[in-house]
Amino acid sequence: MRIFNAANLLSPRAGCRYVILAFGRCGRGIAAEHRRKAPNQMKEAEIRPRELFDRYLLLSSQDAQALLSARAGFIDVPCPACASPDAIPAFKKQGFNYVLCRACASLYVSPRPTPEQLLSFYRDGEAVKFWSSEFFRQTAEARREKMFRPRAQLISKLAGRASSGAPQTLVDIGAGYGLFLEEMKKLDVFHTLVGLEPGPDMADICRARGFRIIQKVAENAAVDDCSADFATAFEVLEHVFDPLLFLSGARRLLRPGGQLIFTTLAASGFDIQVLWDRSKSVYPPHHLNLLSAVGIEMLVARAGFSLLELSTPGELDVDIVANMADQDKNLPLPRFVSQILACDEDGRRQFQSFLTHNRLSSHIRVVAGA
Ligand SMILES: [Zn+2]
Repeated sequence: MRIFNAANLLSPRAGCRYVILAFGRCGRGIAAEHRRKAPNQMKEAEIRPRELFDRYLLLSSQDAQALLSARAGFIDVPCPACASPDAIPAFKKQGFNYVLCRACASLYVSPRPTPEQLLSFYRDGEAVKFWSSEFFRQTAEARREKMFRPRAQLISKLAGRASSGAPQTLVDIGAGYGLFLEEMKKLDVFHTLVGLEPGPDMADICRARGFRIIQKVAENAAVDDCSADFATAFEVLEHVFDPLLFLSGARRLLRPGGQLIFTTLAASGFDIQVLWDRSKSVYPPHHLNLLSAVGIEMLVARAGFSLLELSTPGELDVDIVANMADQDKNLPLPRFVSQILACDEDGRRQFQSFLTHNRLSSHIRVVAGA
């Protein structure tokens, strides 16, 4: 597969597994990226030019319909965050059932495609081929500048905060073309940069760029694959079949005391809570797991990590709801939310700040200790 950075799913040799992330970034993942205060603000058109993105969405929808035709084989799953089987129907979207965990309020797809079905979806789908051959190639440099560089700067900051000495090794889960690793290399924070990348073509490209590559998915990671000080996984969790297996694999890549930094979408965030099934973040079959902040805390503990930080640095929740309301004058909104949207810019900004500081944004960031 030839998408970029982290993503993940199932079985070995799935060059494509890591394509998933690409989709996250293609959809709401990119919105989430906007939420960081990057010095160089990203323009949507640079990252996903309209014509290309429309074509991608069309192909993606066709692939999803093909997947649905095999829904008889889908699997019922308990809550991917807290493991409770106690869930109530939430809604159906594009043929996929979302349910709500009564224990932790995570929102997730169940029944969901099997790992093998997801693998085929991500490996053989027309949307993936289009993304790999056209979309990524045409937007790679813009993405490097607007997404990977700010990410590298963020990790550099977090690593500096966490370590008294020089951090030694970072492993990027889903290294893709190695653009994030290249940006990290420029910052010269880590002595060794490693990529986890199952796709043979992309793994070769990363190696040609001088990086050590572990050619597998995180779920299959072994203790002796790596002993990293830091691991990164940006917007992968919402895509994977089993978040617990994913995080457990990521933990095996870390030395004791090492840190995993991951970002994902949280159902407990304001815009998803308000828009619910209308939210563009609710995007099946790509976004299978929209966990709550509480659920993510439980998941991190179940995977054997200690939670060092769970924050919601998102800055776009109010804007996302306002944009949807602008586009659809009949959008049903709670009266109080309409009052928020009627505030002036300063009022909206203050409300967003309240969300950000109270774990109520849908863009969530976790730092977890192994
Ligand atoms: Zn739950």
